[in-house]
Amino acid sequence: MKLWVTPQGDRWLCAECEQDCAQAITEQGWRMAFVKIDPMLRCAECKQGDVEIFD
Ligand SMILES: [Zn+2]
Repeated sequence: MKLWVTPQGDRWLCAECEQDCAQAITEQGWRMAFVKIDPMLRCAECKQGDVEIFD
Protein backbone atom coordinates (compact mmCIF):
# COMPACT_ATOMS: atom_id res chain seq x y z
CA MET A 1 0.00 0.00 0.00
CA LYS A 2 1.24 3.49 -0.82
CA LEU A 3 0.67 6.52 1.39
CA TRP A 4 -0.18 9.58 -0.68
CA VAL A 5 -0.02 13.16 0.53
CA THR A 6 -3.03 14.85 -1.04
CA PRO A 7 -4.75 18.24 -0.62
CA GLN A 8 -7.42 16.36 1.39
CA GLY A 9 -4.86 14.78 3.68
CA ASP A 10 -2.84 11.61 3.69
CA ARG A 11 -4.49 8.54 2.24
CA TRP A 12 -3.51 4.96 1.61
CA LEU A 13 -4.24 3.70 -1.89
CA CYS A 14 -3.96 0.23 -3.33
CA ALA A 15 -2.47 -0.28 -6.77
CA GLU A 16 -5.88 -0.47 -8.42
CA CYS A 17 -7.14 2.77 -6.90
CA GLU A 18 -3.83 4.42 -7.66
CA GLN A 19 -4.64 3.80 -11.32
CA ASP A 20 -8.17 5.12 -10.84
CA CYS A 21 -6.77 8.23 -9.17
CA ALA A 22 -3.99 8.76 -11.71
CA GLN A 23 -5.64 11.90 -13.04
CA ALA A 24 -6.03 13.45 -9.59
CA ILE A 25 -2.49 12.44 -8.71
CA THR A 26 -1.21 14.33 -11.74
CA GLU A 27 -3.57 17.29 -11.58
CA GLN A 28 -3.38 17.86 -7.82
CA GLY A 29 0.25 16.91 -7.52
CA TRP A 30 -0.21 14.12 -4.95
CA ARG A 31 3.09 13.06 -3.50
CA MET A 32 3.84 9.46 -2.60
CA ALA A 33 5.18 9.48 0.96
CA PHE A 34 6.17 5.85 1.29
CA VAL A 35 5.25 2.25 0.65
CA LYS A 36 4.34 -0.13 3.43
CA ILE A 37 3.55 -3.79 3.12
CA ASP A 38 1.02 -4.41 5.86
CA PRO A 39 -2.09 -6.56 5.44
CA MET A 40 -3.81 -4.53 8.16
CA LEU A 41 -3.80 -1.39 6.01
CA ARG A 42 -6.98 -0.58 4.15
CA CYS A 43 -7.28 1.44 0.99
CA ALA A 44 -9.03 4.80 1.43
CA GLU A 45 -11.04 4.23 -1.74
CA CYS A 46 -12.10 0.59 -1.92
CA LYS A 47 -11.53 -0.31 1.77
CA GLN A 48 -9.67 -3.43 0.72
CA GLY A 49 -6.29 -4.60 1.88
CA ASP A 50 -3.32 -5.18 -0.35
CA VAL A 51 -4.26 -7.77 -2.92
CA GLU A 52 -0.78 -8.44 -4.16
CA ILE A 53 0.74 -11.78 -3.35
CA PHE A 54 4.10 -11.59 -1.71
CA ASP A 55 5.92 -14.81 -1.94
ZN1 LIG B 1 -8.23 0.54 -3.39
